[in-house]
Amino acid sequence: MIGKNGTRLACSLVLPAALPLLAGWLVIRFGGGFDGWGEVVVPVVLAIYGIGMLIGWRFHRSRVVLSLVVLALSWFGTERLVVAGGGESGGGGPLLVLVGMLLPANLSLWAVLPSRGLFTWRGVGRWVLVLGQACGVWYAVQNGGVATAFWDRPVLGLPDPLSLPVPQLVLLGYLLASAVLLLALWRRRTALESGLVGALVASLVALVLPAGGEPARLFWGAAGLALTLGLVERSYSLAYRDELTGLPGRRALNEALRQQSGTYTVAMVDVDHFKRFNDRYGHDVGDQALRLVARQLSRVEGGGQPFRYGGEEFSVLFPGRSASQALTHLEHLRQAIQTASFVRRSPLRPRRKPTRLRKPRRSPRRISLTVSMGAASRAQGRDKPDQVIKAADRLLYRSKKAGRNRVSASD
Ligand code: GH3
Ligand code: MG
Ligand code: MG
Repeated sequence: MIGKNGTRLACSLVLPAALPLLAGWLVIRFGGGFDGWGEVVVPVVLAIYGIGMLIGWRFHRSRVVLSLVVLALSWFGTERLVVAGGGESGGGGPLLVLVGMLLPANLSLWAVLPSRGLFTWRGVGRWVLVLGQACGVWYAVQNGGVATAFWDRPVLGLPDPLSLPVPQLVLLGYLLASAVLLLALWRRRTALESGLVGALVASLVALVLPAGGEPARLFWGAAGLALTLGLVERSYSLAYRDELTGLPGRRALNEALRQQSGTYTVAMVDVDHFKRFNDRYGHDVGDQALRLVARQLSRVEGGGQPFRYGGEEFSVLFPGRSASQALTHLEHLRQAIQTASFVRRSPLRPRRKPTRLRKPRRSPRRISLTVSMGAASRAQGRDKPDQVIKAADRLLYRSKKAGRNRVSASD
């Protein structure tokens, strides 16, 4: 079972890449051939890049800013094809080939390298690298320094009748870059990497479409939008989500509480004897246990929303429900956590799977833990969210005193 948390994570990983591509396709399909509004495309795309760079600069995301700069330079470069009269076929010229090879290489480079600031010494080095490439491309194209024989080579060995809109060398670059970016997305699982994947795909579509046309410009905009959305989503999740468990954090709980009107219930959940647990198994296994509790909490039913309150404490908010209505769902949760156990990952585990398996002397130790809960609903005399939380805390304390691994609730 994936759980609401998993669905949310999947959305934040898919949408930054998919939405701009879908939007670009929809506008081209249903936009009436840009009749009467084609002139707004360029200002809108410029605004997207400007906003993306501004947010990237404020949130210290030098990789995103540099990727946007590379995309913008590539876009301006292809616009030059029109001036030079080479944009009609979509087939290319040396400029298109150079842009088509350098752009995916740069995007994968910024995906792999760590963020190093924009105006630090290392950041300046990266600016020099990007602007140096732009100058190099400009110089090579001006002086006819790129031999046709070089960029027309069938490196992928694809048959000629396929009449590809871009040279095979460019396609090869894009294939390698997509492998790098998908690997980065799989390893880091953040919206930033998803935005980079979207930008890569959109830029290939833009390169294939005739340069200087509205559809191509639209897809340059989609590439910038993918990066900007990835950046916004990542910043949101850093502010509102807890990194260890992936659950929304305390700030998200406070905001959700402010939006409540009418009845609601807050349950405070605290892991029992967790200090002892940490002392016995170590902090890393403790972290593993917190993730297990979070996974169980994210499967809560009855419209409950789980949060990590802090440390080994969690909260579950039930909008529109009284504490007695939430009680059965909380009791299910408590039992599910008590039953769910996990096998500790041994620090002595070999890196590679051994070829000959030795018979284990003992069956692997399964570890389990329990939680105590206190649930209070909004009521007369406790109208404010912090009063409800305090009441839930008092009930949690009562559960602890009564022997732990139990739920206390009051309407
Ligand atoms: P009780 O049953 O009364 O709640 O006892 P307890 O030991 O759980 O309570 P106490 O508040 O004394 O200890 C909480 C412990 O939780 C102490 C702290 O080391 C541990 N803890 C808090 N945050 C984390 C975390 O992110 N990871 C790990 N591994 N431990 C944490
Ligand atoms: Mg505690
Ligand atoms: Mg505790």
